[in-house]
Amino acid sequence: AYTEQLQAALDFIRGGSKFLVVAHVQPDGDAISSTLVVGWLLRQLGKQPVLINESAVPVRLHFMEATAGIINYSKQPPEEKFDRIISIDCADFRRIGLVKDCFAENAQLLNIDHHPTNDDFGSHNLIRTDAAATVEILFDLIEFAGIPLDNEAATAIYTGLLTDTGGFRYSNTTPRVMHIASVMLTEGVKGHWIANHLLEQMTKPQLLLLQRGLSRLTFSDDNQIAWLYVAFADMADTGAVGEDLEGLVNYALNVEGVEVGILFKETENGDVKVSMRSSGKADVSAIAQTFGGGGHVRAAGCRLEQGIQESVASVVQAVREALDK
Ligand code: 5GP
Ligand code: MN
Ligand code: MN
Repeated sequence: AYTEQLQAALDFIRGGSKFLVVAHVQPDGDAISSTLVVGWLLRQLGKQPVLINESAVPVRLHFMEATAGIINYSKQPPEEKFDRIISIDCADFRRIGLVKDCFAENAQLLNIDHHPTNDDFGSHNLIRTDAAATVEILFDLIEFAGIPLDNEAATAIYTGLLTDTGGFRYSNTTPRVMHIASVMLTEGVKGHWIANHLLEQMTKPQLLLLQRGLSRLTFSDDNQIAWLYVAFADMADTGAVGEDLEGLVNYALNVEGVEVGILFKETENGDVKVSMRSSGKADVSAIAQTFGGGGHVRAAGCRLEQGIQESVASVVQAVREALDK
């Protein structure tokens, strides 16, 4: 069935000329890398891609030069409507965010994703939930189409794999991930430079934000749950930007004995964005789903329309119940 999905995806691409390519809001390394790979693939097939995202590309990913071509919807929303859409790394339609307003009424949508909670919202769906990253599925698609890689595509594929596997360390780091990474290195990708740039280096605001976050680290009585929060004012006070929050939740999970780590981030309008990470004992995607979010067993998130204290109380309680089951 996967081969049929690959064929249908290729037919969808071959059957159109202009495509709007969009990944999820607040894009991570896989979302941006996938956007670039789809853009690259469309160009190889003689198509016209328009790359867009609701949010800005994280500064750290600017080393991939093609990111300069991704439209920031919040800054310059296009007036044009598109009737062929490719969404990537989005588990559900809501993850596309405001970019949905660029879709024509009868738009056809190819949904390419690896999240187990994906609800097949596309008119066409290319989903493989055992893929470590959406770029892994795109590698399959490129291979299936018989298109030779170049350094630009290989760098984006490698970056998506590196970031979604936490530097080839998470449980989704399969033999196939390592095989694809190896092929990308053979293409000349500078793996050591990308790893240092994305995983080792920190900006000063990022470290100051970490300092504040860690000062609020709290544990449940049995130490199985650890959480921390970042207030909206912390961002301005430290000079940190949204992308500097990435990885913060891992400090909670990485404490010995902790089964679930949680980061609560207050947003500008007072809502709270929740990031959950699990050792595997509790399925945090199921917990996130009860709050209208989603994700994976070991990494999931949701957004709550209530304050930090209420959010902490309700989410920690839900995690408690999941662990006690
Ligand atoms: P993060 O905690 O890094 O924002 O997200 C972890 C995982 O949960 C990602 O795979 C992401 O796709 C998913 N996720 C995070 N927030 C949401 C949300 O609000 N809704 C859904 N459906 N998934 C989310
Ligand atoms: Mn993602
Ligand atoms: Mn992903």
